[in-house]
Amino acid sequence: MRYYSTNRQAPSATLEEAVSRGLAPDKGLYTPETIKRLPPAFFHNMGEMSFQEISFIVAEAFFGEDIDANELKNIVYDTLCFDAPLVKVHDAIYSLELFHGPTLAFKDVGARFMARLLAYFNKGKRKEMRVLVATSGDTGSAVANGFLGVPGIQVYVLYPKGKVSEIQEKQFTTLGRNITAIEVNGTFDDCQRLVKSAFMDKDLQKTMNLTSANSINVARFLPQSFYYFYAYAQLLRLDITDDVVICVPSGNFGNITAGLFAKRMGLPVKRFIAANNRNDIFLQYLRTGKYEPRPSIQTLANAMDVGAPSNFARVVELYGGSHSAICADIAGAAYSDDQIRETLADVYHRYHYLLDPHGTCGYRALAEGLQTGETGIFLETAHPAKFCGTVEEIIGDKVEIPETLQRFMQGKKQTIPLEADFFSFKRYLSSLK
Ligand SMILES: *Cc1c(COP(=O)(O)O)cnc(C)c1O
Repeated sequence: MRYYSTNRQAPSATLEEAVSRGLAPDKGLYTPETIKRLPPAFFHNMGEMSFQEISFIVAEAFFGEDIDANELKNIVYDTLCFDAPLVKVHDAIYSLELFHGPTLAFKDVGARFMARLLAYFNKGKRKEMRVLVATSGDTGSAVANGFLGVPGIQVYVLYPKGKVSEIQEKQFTTLGRNITAIEVNGTFDDCQRLVKSAFMDKDLQKTMNLTSANSINVARFLPQSFYYFYAYAQLLRLDITDDVVICVPSGNFGNITAGLFAKRMGLPVKRFIAANNRNDIFLQYLRTGKYEPRPSIQTLANAMDVGAPSNFARVVELYGGSHSAICADIAGAAYSDDQIRETLADVYHRYHYLLDPHGTCGYRALAEGLQTGETGIFLETAHPAKFCGTVEEIIGDKVEIPETLQRFMQGKKQTIPLEADFFSFKRYLSSLK
């Protein structure tokens, strides 16, 4: 399968090229040239299949031409070492819990898959691959844990000193092994600048095998389609087959776009809802037909604080640029912090289901948008305990911290301090064996 750039100013790439580059040279997003439809029998039998079995079939449709079937199966099975259960909240509303992975957020799926795919491509090569990632919190933990112990790959997580929460920091500074945390005396933007400069530096390019693990990478993006199929399979077990609506709390729109790809592959989803916080650029696009990025504003659902959703280009591409086709498949909604607080507390007290601030936007958009006869699934993208300070204050109750998170909290923080200038960073990278 070849991957073309959404900007169409760069040649198409192989899977290996697309994965190791991340962004195309013309700054476009790599997108598969074809999206295969899966046979009707698959959708009939899905109810009896496991998460891993279903995902392997979906993975073959994208990656089957480029990766040996046994290897691909290992990658998929190893990635999905956890479940994604569909839990009824009330009436026709279900939560797809995507927080049972190592860092308790849906990004684990894409990060773990990408790590294993890179290791596959790097096998037998002499040079170690070095992955650089800048983080303001959550991406660093998913990527670091996704790559932990993967042979042939060293990961460097750059984060702004004193600007991430303790729980987030522990998730990528306590791991050791092939993960190095670099504590930058600066802001998140500084971290991003350092990473970008490293990729553009001719000396480093020559001497080391550098790559990025950002969220637009096809190897992080496409595997997110797996759990849409599995969600539907779990509805089949309940004898629900029609009028399924899926609602996705969205920031960069990678997650929902993977769902739109699943629909294009034949998954019988009637329509989607994109739930935003106050960063409602997509909702405004649906209303006006104009895409107008703006600086992001800080909200309680901070992983969705995005002012220029990077996967928007893939959505437009999928619908041939047609605003009306996009509106026919995707509805939108946006909520303020006050509305997030109100809904999170209400669902906890009334239905005894604890949402996190992101999932809260998804739940509310579904509860408000679902029509009679429809069945709704919202994606619960993170465990509420990851935001326990905020959540405890809203519900006026203690949040139980899962053992996985507690274990991180007991680990010892280890970092390399760095000034926010490229000279220091380059010197550090050049000193590595
Ligand atoms: C990253 C993230 C999102 C947003 O996902 P996109 O793919 O960027 O739209 C939503 N919720 C949580 C908890 C996240 O970490």
